[in-house]
Amino acid sequence: MPYDYDDQNIFAKILRGEIPNDTVLETEHSLAFNDIAPQAPVHVLVIPKGPYVCYDHFASTASDAEIVDFNRSVADVCRMTGVAPGAAGAGYRAITNCGEDGVQEVPHFHLHILGGRMLGRMLA
Ligand code: 5GP
Repeated sequence: MPYDYDDQNIFAKILRGEIPNDTVLETEHSLAFNDIAPQAPVHVLVIPKGPYVCYDHFASTASDAEIVDFNRSVADVCRMTGVAPGAAGAGYRAITNCGEDGVQEVPHFHLHILGGRMLGRMLA
């Protein structure tokens, strides 16, 4: 079994309501909330509600409805937080870390949305 989901991870606890979160958006299949240690003025984490360890797990096994819901949620969060590019500029970075080499801390798939300032050039 390549994907062994640990239901004691911190985001699973957030989804079960066992620990609080600062919710930005909640939909049928997704939850977006502010990162507890923001690295930029906007730092939102978007997660699917289903038990997916990382991006490739989610993208290869989630239902079409979950995948559409997740991606629409990302777009909605970008618009709601004002980082979606518009007349005033803006912009953002979307990052997901996966596994040991990707230095993933929480083993529940999440996308970081970072913005609200000029971000440094960074790919690794
Ligand atoms: P990763 O390294 O797994 O991509 O990122 C995990 C992120 O989760 C980090 O940016 C970290 O600050 C955030 N995080 C860890 N624990 C909590 C928590 O209890 N609540 C919230 N909102 N964010 C958390």
